[in-house]
Amino acid sequence: MASVLELAKQITDEVVAPLAADIDRSGRFPKEAFAAFGKAGLLGLLVPQEAGGLGGTLEDLVAVTETIAESCGSTAMCYLMHSCATMVIAAKATENQKERYLRPIAEGTKIGTLAFSETGTGAHFYSPEIQAARDGESFVLNGRKSFVTNGDQADFLIVLTNAPDADKGLNMFIVDKDTPGVRFAGEWDGIGLRGNNSISLLMENVRVPKAQLVGAEGDGMDLIFQVVAPSFILGVSGVNVGLARGAYLAALEHAKMRKYADGRSLAEIQAIQFYLSDMFGAVESASLFARNAAKAAVEGREDAVLRVMQSKVLASESAVKVTNLAMQVCGGQGYTQKLPVERYLRDARAGAVMAPTTEVLKEWVGKSVAGVPLF
Ligand SMILES: Cc1cc2nc3c(=O)[nH]c(=O)nc-3n(C[C@H](O)[C@H](O)[C@H](O)COP(=O)(O)OP(=O)(O)OC[C@H]3O[C@@H](n4cnc5c(N)ncnc54)[C@H](O)[C@@H]3O)c2cc1C
Repeated sequence: MASVLELAKQITDEVVAPLAADIDRSGRFPKEAFAAFGKAGLLGLLVPQEAGGLGGTLEDLVAVTETIAESCGSTAMCYLMHSCATMVIAAKATENQKERYLRPIAEGTKIGTLAFSETGTGAHFYSPEIQAARDGESFVLNGRKSFVTNGDQADFLIVLTNAPDADKGLNMFIVDKDTPGVRFAGEWDGIGLRGNNSISLLMENVRVPKAQLVGAEGDGMDLIFQVVAPSFILGVSGVNVGLARGAYLAALEHAKMRKYADGRSLAEIQAIQFYLSDMFGAVESASLFARNAAKAAVEGREDAVLRVMQSKVLASESAVKVTNLAMQVCGGQGYTQKLPVERYLRDARAGAVMAPTTEVLKEWVGKSVAGVPLF
């Protein structure tokens, strides 16, 4: 039987890669890739085996997102947000939630995402302004979530709010897309990740039964730090390592193929060789760091949190550096849509501004190594 990574690689080669340029230009959601992932069981990568999933780990998530992003950043980002939403449910699933969400995810018939960000709180998504109101055995949600990747293509959204009693902390709810009062607005017009369909979620008197709460009331902050942070941060690391490797390989191929009139190739020029060396080193270092951080998290090592946080910093910065170098290697041809490096460069710019952003992570890493409390 094919391993998870072999499956991901096969679908990436056969479905994701051929559509990557079209998805970038048209800005459409990668639905063919999601259909293929669903059919192969890959949407259930992080669903436990007893609920019909593949029972994968964070190490698998890094490897799979890296593989997909090597060909298409948009598809990898959509897959990652779905996987994070899956992991949130799997962390505390009731029997009802297992049947309603985890089994269909494993069967490839449900897509999820995270709706955390709000315009008012920006990069500090862990301090939402939206407050759930209690109404008998239900909660009522009102407000707007921004930057919801997968947007209206998701069947359910994990929505982060304050608990009705302010001192109870944060709640996470599973909100079905077809719940009355749920609407989507806007169009994704980012410079990169053009197919990630990151749009706004509008909630007007959205009634959510108590059974849709993830865990207990007030579990939201723990879920953010124990589940969302490791899966999202490591997954973004995987996406950015993949983007960097894709750009490096495209530039390498171009350097070998592009010949001058005297028969010399770009690859024979020393300046280009230096760039290739820089790119190769940056890609492989960031990849090893991310995989080691994921291993530390899976093993529950004491240094895992620090390594996970630093992995996103390193991967995002490496992706920007490598994609810039790739364009330099490819020259004017790299600046056009004839080669994919301009797409990798635009896609790679998102990693550092996605929360937790590079600035916030560097502060947390710096505090951690210096023994200063985070908050
Ligand atoms: C492609 C993409 C997909 C996304 N998908 C999702 C999604 O699926 N779900 C979701 O919930 N959100 C998503 N987001 C939102 C994202 O995670 C951030 O919440 C959002 O980008 C914040 O943007 P902002 O302009 O409000 O940032 P601001 O909060 O305005 O930050 C602007 C800059 O200031 C810096 N800054 C702010 N505060 C501090 C501080 N205290 N110290 C140091 N520096 C600081 C930041 O690092 C950043 O560089 C996505 C974003 C992008 C770009």
